[in-house]
Amino acid sequence: MVMLKDPTLLRSDCLIDGKWITAPGGPAPGRTTPVTDPATGQIVGQVPDLGAAEAEAAIASAARALPAWSARTAKDRGAIMRRWFDLVIANADDLAALMTAEQGKPLAEAKGEVLYAASFIEWFAEEAKRIYGETIPAPTADKRLLVIKQPVGVCAAITPWNFPAAMITRKAAPALAAGCTMIVKPAEQTPLTALALAVLAERAGVPAGVLQVITGDARAIGGVLTGSDVVRKLSFTGSTEVGRILMAQSAPTIKKLSLELGGNAPFIVFDDADLDAAIEGALASKYRNAGQTCVCANRLYIQSGIHDAFAARLAETVRTMKLGRGTEPGVTVGPLIDEAAVQKVESHVADALAQGATLVTGGRQPPLGGNFYEPTILTGVTQKMKVAREETFGPVAPLFRFETEEEVIAMANDTEFGLAAYFYTENVRRVWRVAEALEYGMVGHNTGLISNEVAPFGGIKQSGLGREGSRHGIEEYLEIKYLCSAIG
Ligand code: ADP
Repeated sequence: MVMLKDPTLLRSDCLIDGKWITAPGGPAPGRTTPVTDPATGQIVGQVPDLGAAEAEAAIASAARALPAWSARTAKDRGAIMRRWFDLVIANADDLAALMTAEQGKPLAEAKGEVLYAASFIEWFAEEAKRIYGETIPAPTADKRLLVIKQPVGVCAAITPWNFPAAMITRKAAPALAAGCTMIVKPAEQTPLTALALAVLAERAGVPAGVLQVITGDARAIGGVLTGSDVVRKLSFTGSTEVGRILMAQSAPTIKKLSLELGGNAPFIVFDDADLDAAIEGALASKYRNAGQTCVCANRLYIQSGIHDAFAARLAETVRTMKLGRGTEPGVTVGPLIDEAAVQKVESHVADALAQGATLVTGGRQPPLGGNFYEPTILTGVTQKMKVAREETFGPVAPLFRFETEEEVIAMANDTEFGLAAYFYTENVRRVWRVAEALEYGMVGHNTGLISNEVAPFGGIKQSGLGREGSRHGIEEYLEIKYLCSAIG
C-alpha cells in the first residue's frame, strides 16, 4: 500500500479523450495489469490493459484537440503549464512516494527526480514564448523571405521505467509548449507516476486530448502510434534494440523521431585528477538509481599512477552504502527493477571474473528478498569483457587500468554508443583535447552529474537522435516553414 496525502493521485484508469477509462471502449471494469514494488514484489496498483483500439481513439482525440491548442497564444499555453508545474511541486511528496513504490529508488532520489521532472515543465512553459522565427535578406530586391515555426502536430512518447516522471515531462512539456498534442505510453513497470502526472495536468487546465496517457500492450499500442500517419512525431527513450524497431516501424510514414537510447559511458580519471572530486563523481554517476540510468558510468578507466589509490578509496566508500527499500531512512541504493535486471548484472560479473577480473567488493545478491544486488567493484577489467561491451545497468563499477591519454581515448570511443562521457583532470590543455576527442553527445569534466533542464541531453552514434531539454529541446516539436513573398 502506498500512503498518499492525496489518494486520488493513485489511479487505476487511463486518461483518454478527457475521460478516465478502465476498459476497452467503455466505463466497465476491464482487464488490468498489476504494478509491483521491486523491493518486495508486493502489488501497489493496477492499470488497464488497453490496446490498439484505445490507441486509435487517443490519436483521434489528439487530432481533434490540436487546432484549438496550437491556436492559443504561447503565453496562454505557458500559463497552463506553469500551473501544472506548481501542482507537481505541491504534490512532490506523493509523486515521490508513488515512484519509490513502483520503481524502487530511495525516497530522497525519487523526490529529486520529481523536482528535476518539474523543472522541464517550468523551463518549457517559459520557452513557449521564445519560439522565434527569422527574416532572411533576399537575393533579389523584389522578394521578402521569412521563416516561421509551427507545431509538428500530434506526437507520441514511449518512455522507460528508470525515470518514471522526468522522461515524460522532458517530452510532454516541450510538445505542449510548442502547441503539439501528446499521447504517452509509459513503461509497464512504472505507469502510476505517469497517471498521477496526467491527473495534475488535467487539474492545471490542460484540455481534453492535449495530453493523454495509455497503458497496456506495448507492442499493439506502439504499432498503432508508429503506423499512424496522423502521428507526426515519436519521441522514445529506452533500449537501442526497441529504438531500432520503432524507427523501422516509423519509416513508412517518415515520422519525425527523437530517440534517447542506450549508453556505455566511459569515466576517465587521469593521474593529475583531484582524487576527492573523482571519487565523489564516480559514486554519483555510477550508483545513482542503482546504476540504472543511461548516463551512468559503465566503464571506469583509471590511469596507472592513481589507480590503486582510487580503487581503495572507492571501495571504502562503497562498503558504507546502505542497500534496502527506498522508503527506509538512510538507504542509498534501492533494488533493481526486476529479476531480469539482476540476471543481466550477474551474468556480466560472472563473465568478468571468468576472464580474470578481481572482485573487490559486492558481487552477490544480499539476503533481502526482492531484486537487490550489492554495490560492486571489479578491477583488472579488459575491453573484451561484457562489462566493457554492453550497458550493465546495475551497481557494478568495472575498473580498467590505462597508461596514456591516446590509449584511453581509443578505448573510450571503442563502442557503438555515444551518449555521455566523463573525465577528471586538472590540466587545462588536456581538458580541451579530451573533450573534443570523445565521441559522445555529452561530456562531463570534473563532474559526474551533467543533466539539467537548461542543457541539451542526447547522444550520437547508436545512442540516438535529437536533443531534450534546453532551447534545442523545443525545436524537436517544431517544423520550419519558409515563406517567400514576391512584392515586385
Ligand atoms: P528497458 O530495456 O529499459 O525496459 P525498453 O526499450 O524495453 O527498455 O522499453 C522502453 C519502453 O518501450 C517501455 O515503455 C516499453 O513498454 C516500450 N516497448 C518495448 N518494446 C516495445 C515495442 N515492440 N513497441 C512499442 N513499445 C515497446
